[in-house]
Amino acid sequence: MTHGTPPRLQTPLACLLALLTGLVVATTPTSAAAGAPAAPARREAAAVARAATYQVTLSAARAGRTGSSWRLRGTVSPAPPHGVVRLERRRAGNWRAVRDVAVRDGALDVRVRLPATRGTARYRVVVAARPGVRATTARVAPVDVYTLHTYAVRTRGHVTYPVERFTTTAAAIYADQRGWRAAHHRFRRVADGGDLTLVLAQARTMPSFSASCSVRYSCRVGRYVVVNQSRWRGGSTPFTGSLADYRRMVLLHETGHWLGLHHATCPRAGARAPVMQQQSKSLQGCRPNPWPLDRELRSVA
Ligand SMILES: [Zn+2]
Repeated sequence: MTHGTPPRLQTPLACLLALLTGLVVATTPTSAAAGAPAAPARREAAAVARAATYQVTLSAARAGRTGSSWRLRGTVSPAPPHGVVRLERRRAGNWRAVRDVAVRDGALDVRVRLPATRGTARYRVVVAARPGVRATTARVAPVDVYTLHTYAVRTRGHVTYPVERFTTTAAAIYADQRGWRAAHHRFRRVADGGDLTLVLAQARTMPSFSASCSVRYSCRVGRYVVVNQSRWRGGSTPFTGSLADYRRMVLLHETGHWLGLHHATCPRAGARAPVMQQQSKSLQGCRPNPWPLDRELRSVA
């Protein structure tokens, strides 16, 4: 069979081949209707419009520890040029190539190391054009690159509040997207040791952690994040929010100290109080607020 025979040119693929092999004048209806050969630019545009697109699927974990191995799997069809696609990453600014990834039998499966510093990492796969198929870029959902902190739970003194309930509530507060987790800090409980010790302490034992700790409030001393049992049970009068919010505030406040933050003050009357404000003592005209403000999140991100 020769080029240009009518049966072959009825199919889209044949039309495309014809376009690419210079038979466009003879075969495209547009140029025939216009009564003149199409301009090269229009011919190209027509070719691209008729070109197929890659079908790309990607799946990957949406979170991972700093510096850990991160796996990306997916499919690319049809086969890309040279059997490779380019994996790119963006943290701030431009996309940068990470590496070429081989596609075998239509599948890709690669492990790369996540950045060593926490933050949001974005990844995409770039598939180069091949004859008849347009270049494609497929993005992966943003990856939360987090620092993992481990903690053990202890009590001191005569603790009457159920420790298991305290532990469960604390874990939920640490896991909440509105807490320090939003700044890429995650906390995992361990049986012993860990990076910090979360203590539920009888009020009168507070000064045993440091002379600067008051029997009236909670405290943070070195690796110890100490929650005063009396405050945990009853909240604090100046804090006008709910008891559940008070517990969130106090845990995130003391843990904020552990992350390196100092006290903040109410920025203006009616504003949400910073979590690092001493809301147990006074709201200073602010509204009670258990969650870190955006600027507090940024300061430990
Ligand atoms: Zn404090």
